[in-house]
Amino acid sequence: MSEFRLNRATKEWIILATERAKRPQQFLVKSEKPKIPPFDPLCPFCPGNEKKTPPEVYSLRQRNSRPDQPGWRVRVITNKFPALEPTEKMVKITGGFFRTALGVGKHEVIIETPRHNQIFATLSLKQAEEVCLVCWRRYLFLEKDRRFKLIMIFRNHGVSAGTSLKHPHIQVIALPLIPASIRHPLEEAMSYYDDHGTCVFCDMMQEEIKAKKRIILENEKFVAFHPFASRAPFETWIIPKKHNACFGSASESEVKSMASVLRRVLRKMYDRLGDPDYNLIFRTAPIKDTQEDYYHWYIQILPRLTTPAGFELGSGVYINTSLPEETAKFMRE
Ligand SMILES: [Zn+2]
Ligand SMILES: [Zn+2]
Repeated sequence: MSEFRLNRATKEWIILATERAKRPQQFLVKSEKPKIPPFDPLCPFCPGNEKKTPPEVYSLRQRNSRPDQPGWRVRVITNKFPALEPTEKMVKITGGFFRTALGVGKHEVIIETPRHNQIFATLSLKQAEEVCLVCWRRYLFLEKDRRFKLIMIFRNHGVSAGTSLKHPHIQVIALPLIPASIRHPLEEAMSYYDDHGTCVFCDMMQEEIKAKKRIILENEKFVAFHPFASRAPFETWIIPKKHNACFGSASESEVKSMASVLRRVLRKMYDRLGDPDYNLIFRTAPIKDTQEDYYHWYIQILPRLTTPAGFELGSGVYINTSLPEETAKFMRE
């Protein structure tokens, strides 16, 4: 019999299709990915092509090297084709029934490494820490702009995850409004807090640590697991052990610790599944809710091993054809 499972934090139901369930090793990505060179002369993110991108807004680079020149280790630019425009204008919602607002926001790209064919899973620990620290610093910079309500950090890996440029990069979008898909889980977390007096994410983490069977790995500050109600095979959450609603409020040592866990998790995925495409999303509270007790930031990794279809789009209920207990065990081995 298949089983409905509820994610207590997001209030999302999923269906575990145990009849159709696949063994974890059946998700191994078999298609050979084309070999990528370490440098691509046509790639705007490769060193030497800095003039092909908008000017950098931040970088970690060798002393004596100049902005928009080679010599950087991590480089941040404004997206050349931004989803939202960085103007000084205020955001005002106008119109009657058909509402609109100016597309004001910031859309930045963090180029993780000068190497065109590098992947996050095989970055050195120092480089992974630097990339994560840059994400954190950009968050702290962007949240100061009072027009913005939410900072989204995400990474698309592979064509089926929606990436258009192969060169490893993370995107940051500062939004002037809070979308419904963000607001809904916040309200659910708030109502759990009202009922129980505790943070649902803290409780979920404690229960997962107690149950052990869905844990991938943990260190002093973070734990990585496949949620009880994973919506997709190998969905992974990386969550800080210390309660904190907002990624920006993490300490520098927490960010470094997160980099270490993230790198190990992605490395395991790479080794065990053969470099699957995935989306990685930082889930963090809106800027005004930074200090709240009911929300808890985390990283969600969604491998693209299956494709959501009409039922998922129509119902919002995902059908998972793997057991998180089994996939987590497979990752631990
Ligand atoms: Zn490149
Ligand atoms: Zn918490």
